[in-house]
Amino acid sequence: MLKIAVICIGDELLKGSTVNTNLTFIGERLTREGAPPVFAQEVPDTEAGISGALDRALAEADCIITTGGLGPTADDVTKEYIARRLGLRLEEDSETAIRIRQFWKMRHHTEEIPSRVFNQALVPVGAQVVPNEFGTAPGLILQGPGGRKIILLPGPPGELEPMFESGVLPVLREEIQSAGQVFTKLFRLAGAGETDVEDRTLEILGKRHPLTAAYCAEPGLVRLFLNSPDPFVLNEAAADVQTVFPKELIDPGSATLAEELIRLLRQEKAVMATAESCTGGLVAKLLTDIPGSSDVFLGGVVSYANEIKTGLLGVDPETLRKYGAVSPQTAVEMVQGLAERFRCDGAVSLTGVAGPGGGTPEKPVGLVYAGIFWRGETEVHELRLRRSRAQIRAWAAASAMNLLRLKILAK
Ligand code: ATP
Ligand code: MG
Repeated sequence: MLKIAVICIGDELLKGSTVNTNLTFIGERLTREGAPPVFAQEVPDTEAGISGALDRALAEADCIITTGGLGPTADDVTKEYIARRLGLRLEEDSETAIRIRQFWKMRHHTEEIPSRVFNQALVPVGAQVVPNEFGTAPGLILQGPGGRKIILLPGPPGELEPMFESGVLPVLREEIQSAGQVFTKLFRLAGAGETDVEDRTLEILGKRHPLTAAYCAEPGLVRLFLNSPDPFVLNEAAADVQTVFPKELIDPGSATLAEELIRLLRQEKAVMATAESCTGGLVAKLLTDIPGSSDVFLGGVVSYANEIKTGLLGVDPETLRKYGAVSPQTAVEMVQGLAERFRCDGAVSLTGVAGPGGGTPEKPVGLVYAGIFWRGETEVHELRLRRSRAQIRAWAAASAMNLLRLKILAK
């Protein structure tokens, strides 16, 4: 496999003011090409920072991609430093000079370009220029020691992403292919814990070679990545995943539980609604994040106060007095009252203690009841969730969607 290192340059990445989306973008694209980066580093806009990262990358990788620090300001030192390090003189690239003049004229009323802006037209001798349609700093492909490619890209994602697609990948593809690719397939598994997924995946890893796995958990879903240089092995393993996780595996076209639920509802020609207390409308939010969800999602009630539970959903005040708002009885009456009023096929209700305060020994923080209604049948589930208020709410919403998903599949 072609060993590619990524160096992301910029003080803002270390200070936490910019999220390094350039790495997620490059990582995802290279993984699809069969050559995920072997390592990545974030360094400040200093010679020392860039130099240390470059030393390691030259020792361990066959190809180096840097992002950031190509701009006109004094803190942008990437090109100058790397050119010096490689012993390459800078010279004007005529096409880039024309582009920069045009770009400048479009935005300013004077022809006079400050020298620091025009400096962006200077490129190391022998560099291949990657044109930048959305900014002034061009990308540069340099030959480093041992014929290693060193590829310099600007920091702004809106510039880097199209340049990577059109100017970098076509150049790398041949090298990636001749060095041998590692293919990756992503599976999303709903309603299973990360360790459970790992245990059951071991069975698959035990019988297929060469095959490796990686796991990544988020509320309600575990993402399972299977990697192999052999596409045939990967296809066999994909069939195994279906067998080992029949209930958990969601459609490859669904990136989230909400998308999967909407897909299933559409398939069933069904509509649903939500009655949410502790999640304050989060399930409704997640469903309506998806464009076009109005054909299966009718709406919901955020029944935070007891008066709304009784007034809008028809929960019996006696139920609230006797069992409390956080109880299986209330969850059931919420979901049934909602389904009756909204005349829907499916419905979910959530009531619980999201914390951080408000917990008691009998009803601790993280105790949530989910009511699930599907075509005339109601069930209630007790959830014991952990961590922060945000995490408890995220897991409660995901669990409710998954429980309705399972109910639909069980029919
Ligand atoms: P220019 O200065 O011409 O905009 P540049 O190559 O010098 O380009 P930087 O100055 O390093 O780029 O970064 C410009 C902007 O791009 C930053 O303010 C930041 O918002 C964004 N950016 C830089 N690096 C990254 C990154 N790794 N991920 C996401 N955004 C980034
Ligand atoms: Mg910068």
